[in-house]
Amino acid sequence: MTYPNWLSQRAHLSGSRLALSFQETQWTFSEINDVALEYAGKLTALGVQKNTRVAILAKSSPEFVFVMYGCLHVGCEMVMLNERLARAELSYQIDDSSADYVLVDDVLKEKVTDSQLILFSRIKGTSPVPFTPQKEWKKERTISIMYTSGTTGNPKGVRQTAENHFSSAVSSALNIGISPEDVWLCVMPLFHISGFSILMRSLIYGMGVRLHDKFDASSCAAELQAGRVTHMSVVGVTLERMLDVLAADEMSVSPKFKTMLAGGGPVPVAYIQRAASYGISVLQTYGMTETSSQTTTLQPADAAQKIGSSGKPLFLYQVKIDGAEKAGDKGEILIHGPQVTPGYIGRFADRNVQEDGWLHTGDVGFLDEEGFLFVVDRRSDLIVSGGENVYPAEIEKVLLAHPAVREAGVCGAPSDEWGEVPVAFVVLNKPVETDELLVYCKEQIASYKVPKRLSIVETLPRNASNKLLRRELKAWL
Ligand code: AMP
Ligand code: MG
Ligand code: MG
Repeated sequence: MTYPNWLSQRAHLSGSRLALSFQETQWTFSEINDVALEYAGKLTALGVQKNTRVAILAKSSPEFVFVMYGCLHVGCEMVMLNERLARAELSYQIDDSSADYVLVDDVLKEKVTDSQLILFSRIKGTSPVPFTPQKEWKKERTISIMYTSGTTGNPKGVRQTAENHFSSAVSSALNIGISPEDVWLCVMPLFHISGFSILMRSLIYGMGVRLHDKFDASSCAAELQAGRVTHMSVVGVTLERMLDVLAADEMSVSPKFKTMLAGGGPVPVAYIQRAASYGISVLQTYGMTETSSQTTTLQPADAAQKIGSSGKPLFLYQVKIDGAEKAGDKGEILIHGPQVTPGYIGRFADRNVQEDGWLHTGDVGFLDEEGFLFVVDRRSDLIVSGGENVYPAEIEKVLLAHPAVREAGVCGAPSDEWGEVPVAFVVLNKPVETDELLVYCKEQIASYKVPKRLSIVETLPRNASNKLLRRELKAWL
């Protein structure tokens, strides 16, 4: 089974629509396809061919998009490298993926030494050879490979096929709808599925992307006020920072803005309520690299009754809880559907990603009576204290609800008495005694869950998608 080439088809169907906008410059789908074909010709001249595996290391910029779209035309498998990683982490991924070439943004050239390195400036300066695009793409073709963000264990290279991306985009559209004027603000990293999936939706829907080189709360608030964008993907902290700017500068949000997708981790209900006061509907979603983004999403209509839930599966997908006998039973979250990766590459290539067609996520959750998913925590972050299961996210949620707390992170610390005990790190909005925070916790959660130590810190360790790295908290102990 095949799809028509997404770039050619999109240029053919809606060539005059906005495809990409960055600072003051815009490209239509027909313009961006011309650039992509030119880049495909340049890459071909440099030896890059169909089925070659290229690793790409870049910061968000139009040129990064041109290189990726060029690679899509050529038919490469793109290993998306995270520019925030250290040299050693990058060489692990380049080595593990056996990339034939490493395409590197000039501003990041200090980060890699590889004999097969090609700088973006060299691609740009190369004369293209004539290039004829493929008419069709195989569904099982690997479009992208992403190493999971490393919140747990050894990074694994996840294959994301054309079918994975297509079903993800279509399922999302069936849920939130699409219209020709839609423009998605992209401040998430393009090398992570949260940002990359925006580009896939752009090609599949014919939707515009407003690209920023990085997340900046003030510039995002300005976009929301100006009414230039209709959608945006956020995580808890980026949402909170934008809400702070909107409040501090007494800004309003244009009625043209439609929806925010909030993923990567639980978003505190207080943020969702504050967003609602600006007319912003925030849809909490649950997804991961292995499912090419969203798997479940909470509808605005359900948000009030289902506080804390990540919603129900998107139309094409199914979710179940391993070993659960009835609603409310906690266990590992299992996922089935066409968005689930066929597997890993490199040293994990032999690892079975699905068992009987179900992806084992490593996340713990439960389904309520009506089938709404509640994600409780990462199984690997679970703290077992005196035989009781303690989920860090539950304690963080309580701390975050305190008005003086801006960010919270909890992990397990070794204890002779209990095996492990929870300890907390918080970033404050305003001064508060740590005792007051502990008393506050005692009022709301069982005493074995109350942090045995609480430290006030300036920042918490987060990855490029702003997700809390609990493993690094452990290293702080
Ligand atoms: P990544 O593969 O880097 O996108 O990370 C995916 C992981 O983020 C999931 O396996 C979960 O552990 C976590 N995650 C994503 N969405 C949520 C959510 N709505 N609630 C809690 N955890 C989430
Ligand atoms: Mg992951
Ligand atoms: Mg707070």
